[in-house]
Amino acid sequence: MEGLFSGMEPLPEKVSSGEVISHKALSAKEQSNKIFSGEVQTARRPASGELQGKSASAHKGVPGEFAFSEDLSRNAAIFCSDERFIDASITFLKNSLKLKKFDLIVTAGGPAFITADVPALMGNLKILKEEHDISTIVLISHEDCKYYCRKYVNTGRSEILKYQQKDLQNAKGKLLKLYPGIKLEIYFARIAGKQIIFEKQS
Ligand SMILES: [Zn+2]
Repeated sequence: MEGLFSGMEPLPEKVSSGEVISHKALSAKEQSNKIFSGEVQTARRPASGELQGKSASAHKGVPGEFAFSEDLSRNAAIFCSDERFIDASITFLKNSLKLKKFDLIVTAGGPAFITADVPALMGNLKILKEEHDISTIVLISHEDCKYYCRKYVNTGRSEILKYQQKDLQNAKGKLLKLYPGIKLEIYFARIAGKQIIFEKQS
């Protein structure tokens, strides 16, 4: 896997195959501070007849303006829409993999759509690949994914895990074939008590 991410900022040494990266999800307050530059105030509902735009812009303390940049990172990440893993996944990509920015496809089952070859989502990925010249893709699958729980009913968690890991491998192979030269990494997000641990898959 060495040199896989050569076209981007290098991965930190500690993120090597087989090594686990522990992540403690940020609190809602911490997240809030990261996303918004100022303290968030409770917004009041606009009174009947009041202009929505005027109300929003005049409401100090609720930021509505953010910096915009045309710069493209050429990175993309695909993971599940399960809210329990979203903050952790984004922080993992930014802090552990040192990806400052990335396009996202966040959908139930995450990269499972690649193995399942869901046309609409494969089409979306193609658009990102071509329009944003994507050169690096990170796939993350996670434990206790309801997409897989529904797909494999009455199946034990360890058995489902095997299916997920097989799907990740399959998705990796498929994307490498579809987009030759792309840099691709796959991870599995495991639940360990109150923590989420991202394990790199080979
Ligand atoms: Zn899921």
